[in-house]
Amino acid sequence: MNVTFVSYEVTPFAKIGGLADVAGALPKYLNDKVNEISVIMPFHKIVEENIKKYDLPLEKIAENLYPISHSFKYPFSIFKSYLPDTKIPIYFIKNENLFSTEDVYEYPNKDHQTSYFSDCVISFIKDFLPDTNIIHINDWQTSLIPVYLKNNYRDNEILSKIATVLTIHNLGYQGIFPPEILSIAGLPGYLYNIDALEFFGQINFLKGGILFSDVINTVSKTYAEEIQTDEYGYKLDGVLKVRNNDLYGILNGIDYEHFNPETDKLIPYNFNKDNVENKYKNKLYLQEKLNLPKNKNIPLISFIGRIVEQKGIDLISELLNYLTLLNLQIVILGTGEKHYEELLLKYQNKYPDKLSINIKFDLELAQLIYAGSDMFMMPSKYEPCGLGQMYAMRYGTIPIVRYTGGLADTVKEASCENKHGTGFGFYDYISSNLLIEILKAIHVYNRDKDCWNALIANAMSENFSWNKSAEEYIFIYKRALSKKHI
Ligand code: ADP
Repeated sequence: MNVTFVSYEVTPFAKIGGLADVAGALPKYLNDKVNEISVIMPFHKIVEENIKKYDLPLEKIAENLYPISHSFKYPFSIFKSYLPDTKIPIYFIKNENLFSTEDVYEYPNKDHQTSYFSDCVISFIKDFLPDTNIIHINDWQTSLIPVYLKNNYRDNEILSKIATVLTIHNLGYQGIFPPEILSIAGLPGYLYNIDALEFFGQINFLKGGILFSDVINTVSKTYAEEIQTDEYGYKLDGVLKVRNNDLYGILNGIDYEHFNPETDKLIPYNFNKDNVENKYKNKLYLQEKLNLPKNKNIPLISFIGRIVEQKGIDLISELLNYLTLLNLQIVILGTGEKHYEELLLKYQNKYPDKLSINIKFDLELAQLIYAGSDMFMMPSKYEPCGLGQMYAMRYGTIPIVRYTGGLADTVKEASCENKHGTGFGFYDYISSNLLIEILKAIHVYNRDKDCWNALIANAMSENFSWNKSAEEYIFIYKRALSKKHI
């Protein structure tokens, strides 16, 4: 089986969120289970910077190629590198006009950019990777690929044989655009139809991916159930229910080599579950770096993520006035909605000894925070899988979460009676519930060190490696091959 994995972001070439980590790690774990695996992504501006930063190879392998159906007849070229420390090729589709913005997701006409990219991917696969059996696409940006395959290229000898698997990493982002995009993309007008891509008078790319992929997957079992409900379905619950028989929920793993507290070069003191003393050295180092009072015993709670309501930042903001009265420290790292960023910074000015607000994207600092915190907050409104809680547990940091999506599937409720569990959680999306769990965690931290140490050991003993999930992906690839949907 030959798999071509297509993603808009791939670690370390361009990382915005969890998708990049998945795209950078999963192919490595599939590598020994398939004949060949290749990755394709756009040549974003930041790719060039990261290739230099991480000293990765890069060669141009083709130029003056063209999309097949798209009305933009701009040429594109192909650059090739490898996923670090592997022989897995990654191909970059380069076009100066379309992929030159600073921010990966901020191109003004995203419908033009993503549709052009999707057709270029197909054109490249047809001529350079014709033995591809599976195209594994991710999120709405690549969702037109199965739409092209099933509508424009169904008579093409090479392309008609390829099966497609879509992984939805976040149903909240769907790619909804005016209907004109169909003719710009060179797609048939009949797709403007409620049974196809039409969506409340617009065109919905993700809906196309859901309807035309052979198999659909999302990134946790609970989220796969949730998205078929009105509450989490973002108006696509009906369409997802139609494809219910082909809908899976494979939990993301984390890269155990890269995120390993025993060997991690980004943290000053390495540690494991038998040597957590060194974890506290990282804590002191983190406090010093962030200008917080250095104190091993004061509970340090962190948050790393996009500063948006999906991640529960509204709940956290509501509690800050109260939390700053307590004997604790809070570290936040993230970027997102301006008014929340400003609000958080205002609190920091008021309580500089309690709060450290870091409005930036900083992978090195993130690693230090995972290692140096005692607790990690993730009170998400919805969470397809969530990686932060898994990284936190790997580094012995106890998650405090809302039990939704992947958070419900990965965090086990702590109990000091039998010293079971890995974290604290709540169900109803209300700030007082988050507060109760924070207070419970602090209570155990301050009063029951034996239990706290047991929770750390439990969290660090969890296994979120990709091996099991990679097996499950092989299963759905086979299923996609045996069952070409339309
Ligand atoms: P999502 O993909 O919804 O943004 P995830 O929890 O699945 O959320 O993944 C987010 C990833 O991005 C995690 O690896 C997290 O550590 C990382 N991350 C988010 N914001 C930042 C930031 N400001 N600096 C460094 N890493 C970040």
